[in-house]
Amino acid sequence: MAGRKCIFCGTPHALTREHVLPVWLQEYVGGDEPGEFRGTRANFFGMPLDERKASPNSHTLKVVCGECNNGWMSRLEVAFSAILPRLEMDINPRRFSKTERATIAKWIVKTGIIAHLSSNYRRILPETFPISLSRGQAIPGRVRVFGGNVAESKSIRWIQSNLASTVLSRSDLASFDPLKDSFVFILSIRKVFLGFGWHDLNRNAMNLSLNDSSLHQFYPRPQPAQISKVFDDLQMASFGLSLSPR
Ligand SMILES: [Zn+2]
Repeated sequence: MAGRKCIFCGTPHALTREHVLPVWLQEYVGGDEPGEFRGTRANFFGMPLDERKASPNSHTLKVVCGECNNGWMSRLEVAFSAILPRLEMDINPRRFSKTERATIAKWIVKTGIIAHLSSNYRRILPETFPISLSRGQAIPGRVRVFGGNVAESKSIRWIQSNLASTVLSRSDLASFDPLKDSFVFILSIRKVFLGFGWHDLNRNAMNLSLNDSSLHQFYPRPQPAQISKVFDDLQMASFGLSLSPR
């Protein structure tokens, strides 16, 4: 499409077709069997609004340039794929180096952006969000990356939602629109899941935190879960994240 720019680097290079779920990951999860993924969008209260099922191999998107796709994104896939078996063995963030945790954080944010753009839902993330991940350098601000264990499945599942910010109370936040100003994405791979939450409010006034002690935090700081738990579904895990006044 003429005039379209790469969502990451912003340059008008020729855009290439990119798998929403990388082929190596589809193979990792499904072995020789055809994989399946489910993407669910949930409303503010976590009720599923719709679900899409598709063959991941046919699910592609053309929003990234060849330089990004074959450059930093390709390197990120290689780096993350080397870490993934260890995440499955033990997802405790303290078992990973700072560099490895940054790789995990960049990978889930990158994958969440692509998955978000691949769905025909109303955009929640502003255009500046992906660009701040340009060249795979920096994790966007106000992002919190977490993970945990989920009932094992051969399909890759994800949910995207807005934050259940039930603790919001300040009157000066009257303009806050959780549907527009917050985002949570969670993706499961076999028996583990990774996710990130983000908000677009003043970070000095608002804090995004994990209020579920069975979730591990990977970014910004490593913080292992205190309770061992296997979630039945990803939606419940998303409730572990909340936005509250500092
Ligand atoms: Zn690019």
